[in-house]
Amino acid sequence: MLSKVLVFAVICFAAAHSLTIVSRSEWGAKPPKKVTNLPTNPPSHVVVHHASSPSCYSKADCIKRVKSFQDYHMGPDNSWDDIGYNFVVGEDGNVYEGRGWGKQGAHAKPLNSKSIGICVAGTFNGAAPNAAAQKAVKDLIAYGVSNGKIQKGYKLVGHRQVDNTDCPGTAFYNVIKGWPQWTAKSLNIISRSGWGARPPVWDSPNQVIKPASFVNIHHGKSSSCYDKTSCISKVRSYQNEHIDGKGWSDIGYNFVVGEDGNVYEGRGWDKNEISPNLPNSKTIGICVIGTFNNGAPNVKALNAIKELMSSGVANGKIAANYRLIGHRQFDSTDCPGDALFKIIKGWPHWSPYSLRNAH
Ligand SMILES: [Zn+2]
Ligand SMILES: [Zn+2]
Repeated sequence: MLSKVLVFAVICFAAAHSLTIVSRSEWGAKPPKKVTNLPTNPPSHVVVHHASSPSCYSKADCIKRVKSFQDYHMGPDNSWDDIGYNFVVGEDGNVYEGRGWGKQGAHAKPLNSKSIGICVAGTFNGAAPNAAAQKAVKDLIAYGVSNGKIQKGYKLVGHRQVDNTDCPGTAFYNVIKGWPQWTAKSLNIISRSGWGARPPVWDSPNQVIKPASFVNIHHGKSSSCYDKTSCISKVRSYQNEHIDGKGWSDIGYNFVVGEDGNVYEGRGWDKNEISPNLPNSKTIGICVIGTFNNGAPNVKALNAIKELMSSGVANGKIAANYRLIGHRQFDSTDCPGDALFKIIKGWPHWSPYSLRNAH
């Protein structure tokens, strides 16, 4: 019964947007070897691909094409669990269900766990996909957003932005750069396991007030780092200092940003940061690696902070009307350094709020 209701809903939507999704059984998909649910669901990114294959313009041809993708992805060359993409679109204007909604694909390594991968069958370096295929991709994304399968604030990227590839072809890439929510640089968050974090000594307190109403900026008062390897060693040294030196449960910050442009997950979104005198229960603390009394962080680091904050707002982790502050507004400290403080004072959400007027 439930599935009948769902089918009915899909048909209604499809009628409004003329979206036709050809199911796996309809195109004769092989069963997957294994199914993995998306850890981030609904996903925050949509990744667009081309297949580096000939184009297809009829349902019969497109079905052959999609089967060949699945064979190639599951065969000896790749031995993946299933066809890599969540969906494949043909120049017949149809959408072919790959791994589908809510499932983790194998299509863009850095984003697999938090994206939907949509591939248009064909090679689009010289010419873009036809209007029918472009419309089908857009309708599929709109359907995903309106049905809670893709986050509203999703970021649209081309595969080439996150991997060393020409995918989705130069002509197609130039087209999607003009689509809504295309994002120049996708936020790169290195997870705790990615930088080799120690487990917290005890469970850090959960954030009480959600979404957080403050974003608090720090500098780390260390030397700077400009590549992932040296930034990881800085983040580890911060964590060691906070646990072994200060006796805290964990690294104090929610996130750490390097001048390599990466964001390193500290306590993450849902835990309190540690900062004496701050309203910790409603604050996301972001620390930039380095000392910024004289020189400011580079553009990569500043963009990463902005991206992180907007992703926090889009994902309901930071209130839309959040107040941006510097650590010195609440403590007798020069943190986040004169130069960085001067910059954040120019950002839209900066607030002159201080400990004095907090009481
Ligand atoms: Zn690709
Ligand atoms: Zn600080």
